Amino acid sequence: MKKDLLYEGKAKKVYSTENPEELIVDYKDDATAFNGLKKGTIEGKGVINNKVTNHLMKMLEKNGIPTHFIKELSDRETLVKKVTIVPLEVIVRNIAAGSLSKRLGLPEGTKLGSTVLEYCYKDDALGDPMVNDYHIKAMNLASDEELKTIADYSFRINTLLSEYLADLNIELVDFKLEFGRLTDGTIVLADEISPDTCRFWDSKTHEKLDKDRFRRDLGNVEDAYKEIMKRLMGE
Ligand code: ADP
Ligand code: UDP
Repeated sequence: MKKDLLYEGKAKKVYSTENPEELIVDYKDDATAFNGLKKGTIEGKGVINNKVTNHLMKMLEKNGIPTHFIKELSDRETLVKKVTIVPLEVIVRNIAAGSLSKRLGLPEGTKLGSTVLEYCYKDDALGDPMVNDYHIKAMNLASDEELKTIADYSFRINTLLSEYLADLNIELVDFKLEFGRLTDGTIVLADEISPDTCRFWDSKTHEKLDKDRFRRDLGNVEDAYKEIMKRLMGE
């Protein structure tokens, strides 16, 4: 099925297939943080992120969000629709943490009065700088209509994920999304939704069940990823 390795990123490899409109993504155990400065391995992460992403994307599809997901091929590999990625990291926040806490002086864990949407320009060399609607328009990163669709989907995804996870005793603190264009221009959700790209806290204990355990050397990293998969999928 896999043809050529098109791209090797920090967390996944992307391969072409016989179908020019489809790709295979292959999830790795490699972990990086702080724009690649901190490197390591989280054993079993690739399998967990593949399965968790697909589980959540299927749930979102059922609820009317178009995604790139086609079919899980193996523990680490998934067939997806090829898209042209809109070069934005779309960050959605419900509770202050990470860079928002630092930037605005809000203690981590402060409940935000309303959902915050942020955009970062996807450019590793520049360290993914934050941009707003005007920068996005000026740099022609997405049309006004596309950005409206992206924002609308992001808020809907936040509601769907937050409610779904609340039932599993998981608080959705914040997360990052990527969107892409199919050949006909349709905007779909792409990339991944996993403990690498979301902050998940246990609702009762507020224990961190995500990549912050790796970023901040909190220990029990593998166990946190396993716990998320167990709560979502019972495995
Ligand atoms: P990074 O590029 O940040 O190191 P990854 O290791 O996760 O990240 O690499 C996966 C790459 O594949 C990312 O650049 C992501 O934008 C891209 N991607 C994700 N889904 C799709 C898709 N459906 N079509 C094309 N590219 C995709
Ligand atoms: N995030 C991500 N990739 C990035 C930057 C952020 O997946 O390149 C996610 C991160 O896991 C968190 C949310 O986006 O869930 C907000 O991250 P933040 O801006 O607080 O940055 P960080 O503290 O991770 O540097």
